[in-house]
Amino acid sequence: MAKDFQVVMLASGSKGNAALISTDSQRFLVDVGISCRELVKRMQQVGASPEELDGVFVTHEHVDHVKGIVTFAKKYQVPLYASQGTWRAVFSRYPELNRANCRLTGQRLLVGDVSIACFATSHDAAQPQGYSFLWRSGETKCTYVTDTGFVTPEVREAVQGSDVLVLEANHDVEMLKNGSYPYELKQRILGTRGHLSNNTAGQFLLQLEKMPRRIFLAHLSEQNNLPKLALDTVKNILDSKKRLQETRLLVANQHQPVADYLTGQMALPGLFED
Ligand SMILES: [Zn+2]
Ligand SMILES: [Zn+2]
Repeated sequence: MAKDFQVVMLASGSKGNAALISTDSQRFLVDVGISCRELVKRMQQVGASPEELDGVFVTHEHVDHVKGIVTFAKKYQVPLYASQGTWRAVFSRYPELNRANCRLTGQRLLVGDVSIACFATSHDAAQPQGYSFLWRSGETKCTYVTDTGFVTPEVREAVQGSDVLVLEANHDVEMLKNGSYPYELKQRILGTRGHLSNNTAGQFLLQLEKMPRRIFLAHLSEQNNLPKLALDTVKNILDSKKRLQETRLLVANQHQPVADYLTGQMALPGLFED
C-alpha cells in the first residue's frame, strides 16, 4: 500500500460522523456530522485544514452525517457531493444551506486522479450511499460503508478488493435487545434499513476474497456497543478462519480522531489503537 495514503476517522458513531481520506494528491471528507467548529479542530489535530479539501462526500441526510454542513458550506469553497435524494432531503431540512457548491455524484465521478464509485446502501433515508475511492489506475482502493441494515449485493461488490475498509459495526445484538431503547427504535436498528451489527460485519468480512489491509470498525452505538466488544467479536470471527494475518483492525471513536498511522507521514504515533 502506498505510504502516502491515509484514512483518519475524525468522528464516528451515532452522535456524529466525519472521515478524512487522503491520497498523495487529493484530500476528501466523508460526511460532516459534527459541528463545523469541532470538525476544523479535529482536522487541525491531524495536520489537515478544510481549505485543502478537494471534496466532501455525504452519505445521507441523517443529522449525524450532516450536522455541520450549513456552516461548512458557508465558510469553505469546497465541492459537496451527494445523491439527488440526499440533496432533496438536506435542502428541505436546511433551506438556508448555501447550494453553490452542492453537486450530484451520479454513479461514478473523477476528482483529480481519484475515481469515486458510489453505491446504494439499505437504510431508512432518501437515497443513502457509500463510496469507494480508487486511484493509481484502481490499484489502491478505500471503501466507506456505514448506515446499512444489511450487506446488499451492491455493498458486497463495492467492498471487494479494498485496501482500506471503513465498515459499520453499530451494535451488539444482545446489548441492543436488552437495552433501554423503545421497541420501535430497536426494530428500526435491527431491520433491513437500519444498521449493521458487530456479528454481521464480522461474518461479511469472512466472505471477502481479499482481506483489506486495514479495517476501521465504525459508527458504533454508544448505548448498544462497546469498542472492545466490537473489536473482539469481529476479531474472533476472523481469527476462527485465520483471516487476520495481514489485516489490522481499528475501532473508530466518537470523541477523538483515530488514524491509520502505519501508512505514512501524517502519523499520530501512539494514539488510539484498540
Ligand atoms: Zn443514518
Ligand atoms: Zn448514522
